[in-house]
Amino acid sequence: MRSELYIDGKWRPSSDGRTFDVVNPATEEVIHRIAAATAEDVDVAVKAARRAFDRDGWPKLSGAQRARYLRAIAEGIRARQAEIARLEVIDNGKPLPEADWDVADAAGCFDFYAGLAEQLDNSPEEPIALPDARFTSKAVKEPIGVAGAIIPWNYPLLMAAWKVAPALAAGCTVVLKPAEVTSLTALELAAIADDVGLPAGVLNVVTGAGAVAGQAIIDHRQVDKLAFTGSGPVGSKIMAAAARDIKRISLELGGKSPFVVFDDADIDEAVEWIMFGIFWNQGQVCSATSRVLVQEGNYDRLLSRLVEETKKIRIGNGLEDGVLLGPLVSKRQHQQVVTAIEAAKAAGATVACGGKRPKGFETGYYLEPTVLTDVPLESDAWREEIFGPVVSIRSFSTEEEAIELANDSRFGLAAAVMSRDDRRAERVAAAFRAGIVWINCSQPTFTEAPWGGYKESGIGRELGRWGLDNYLETKQITRFATGEKWGWYIK
Ligand code: NAD
Repeated sequence: MRSELYIDGKWRPSSDGRTFDVVNPATEEVIHRIAAATAEDVDVAVKAARRAFDRDGWPKLSGAQRARYLRAIAEGIRARQAEIARLEVIDNGKPLPEADWDVADAAGCFDFYAGLAEQLDNSPEEPIALPDARFTSKAVKEPIGVAGAIIPWNYPLLMAAWKVAPALAAGCTVVLKPAEVTSLTALELAAIADDVGLPAGVLNVVTGAGAVAGQAIIDHRQVDKLAFTGSGPVGSKIMAAAARDIKRISLELGGKSPFVVFDDADIDEAVEWIMFGIFWNQGQVCSATSRVLVQEGNYDRLLSRLVEETKKIRIGNGLEDGVLLGPLVSKRQHQQVVTAIEAAKAAGATVACGGKRPKGFETGYYLEPTVLTDVPLESDAWREEIFGPVVSIRSFSTEEEAIELANDSRFGLAAAVMSRDDRRAERVAAAFRAGIVWINCSQPTFTEAPWGGYKESGIGRELGRWGLDNYLETKQITRFATGEKWGWYIK
């Protein structure tokens, strides 16, 4: 396990020598200590990224040359897949098969953006048709510059990949700050980048507190672009900080996503996807479908099947075979989710199952998967993100009512609909005010497809070609092509 900052191609302690603890959420043991970056460290990292961008030529390499580094990083991740997945489990708590999935996905993300980097070479210029034949014009894409990437703790390596891969593909250089509670795999990513010979300063990783290292990145005048995934309140701070010197921003924030199940849906299939939509990663998923709306005819049978299956979920240390629900990421997160469940009960909700620490798990941040019914529409439990394995379920009668309830939220990240009637499913999908819509499933995510939210769930889109555009500026080059005199002032 690495414990130092990775700046300008070198490992170094923080400037004041401070560290913070890494706690295994399954055992509550301190398993490691990592350097806590100061504002001074961030300044050194940003200046290194600046040099790599302005002087050392990273953006001047061809897309194909940058792609070679990205593919080598993908290979480096794959070569250490098992070891990195294990680190993710002891840092974040998620079950090993999920961590394995994340690590493979992160490698795939680097390969995907390697492909897009190569395409940048083949289609760099877009001719523009002008109404005045004396001029020709073209649009070219260029990297924005130094990107500050700030990520959360729920998918530590994958969130790093979603930002670092497109940024490097575009020709940007990066200062990455992982979440304080899950920094181990971002440091391994730096180690892999170092092993494959990524030029110094192109990727820098500064671990540490949001209020110190994160704040120093968003305040830094030499950072051109901020890419953030995390909570709404921090997203607002980033937008405000970016306003001062008009930094480019992309924000991926929270959600309270609906899942609408119609009477014609198969109950077992619906229960499977509802569970996948809220219990995967202990429900610590921004796109989790945490508000389930079930049409009246299916409601009672579906609820009882959901409760029956939810009670069977095997809880435990993510490293154990067969475990499907690990501990929450931290003591703080555990407390927050328990507090949200208590508030839901106080507001009138009924706990159909779960809601407490499971028996036999006195140590570790464990929580039973929880199903809430009778959740008042105006309560926080229905409206605010809980970010834990807690689903609220209620019934509806008509399609119009379902759409109204689904869209009645300040968030708009994701939404799901389940129906055997394709036309109805398409109609509801079109009516959802959300950036990601699933039909007959919930959560499957592909590197090729755009990811991001409407309303307070964010700005911009990651993944796919949209993710690359996040790190590119568009420049028009217009030529006066006739050789004639212009003749306005000088006749
Ligand atoms: P958070 O906003 O507290 O932290 C996210 C990151 O921001 C961390 O690295 C943190 O250190 C940093 N940070 C905190 N204060 C900062 C500051 N003042 N300046 C700069 N950086 C600062 O969120 P979290 O608790 O890590 O993650 C949970 C939240 O993230 C949830 O709300 C969830 O919905 C959201 N999320 C969204 C997506 C998405 O794709 N939309 C994905 C994952 C998580």
